[in-house]
Amino acid sequence: MRYYDAHTHKIYPFKSDIVGVYNYRIGEICRTELNDFFSAGIHPYDVEKCTAEWLNKLERVVTDSRCVAVGECGVDKRIADAQKQLMQFEFQAQLAQRIGKPLIVHCVKAQNEVLKVIRRLNVNVVFHSYSKYSEQLSCFSNVYFSLSGRNLQSSVSIDLDRVLLETDDSNESIEQIYSDFAALRSMSVDELKIVIANNFNRVFNR
Ligand SMILES: [Zn+2]
Repeated sequence: MRYYDAHTHKIYPFKSDIVGVYNYRIGEICRTELNDFFSAGIHPYDVEKCTAEWLNKLERVVTDSRCVAVGECGVDKRIADAQKQLMQFEFQAQLAQRIGKPLIVHCVKAQNEVLKVIRRLNVNVVFHSYSKYSEQLSCFSNVYFSLSGRNLQSSVSIDLDRVLLETDDSNESIEQIYSDFAALRSMSVDELKIVIANNFNRVFNR
């Protein structure tokens, strides 16, 4: 049974027992050839750099068969300009809906704005590096939560069948995150591997 890393910025090939989804941030050098799967999106941090050319590129890249999701994208109120971020997020949400691939969401202090956009979607939505349990979000049957090492402690009330695990931009290994999360939920790593593999396949239609 393999490990599934639902969201990572690492650009080296994975070990054979890890399935990873490399997050390609449009605007960076494209390294998608190094991973099994990737997601592609315009990160809220790049809001001011994004051009029409970036949007065209994104529309092209997401049709690649190894591209399993649109994103990460979203709204982060710690940085300006939130209104512009929201427009770029809506564009990407509609793109995900149009091509029928999941959406990976980065949401910081902007849950209401993000909710308004995602409540119109039929595709799966993954809140990445998610830390706060939200009953409002859990009402949506297509919403999942991807947890990195720093979110594990605060995630105890999230249903297991809504959980994915990720390394994001940290140096922690996915094996370590599995082992820490299994301990938190009083289960074995082998049991956890089955749960996460099922969730991963469900979210990304594998
Ligand atoms: Zn990320």
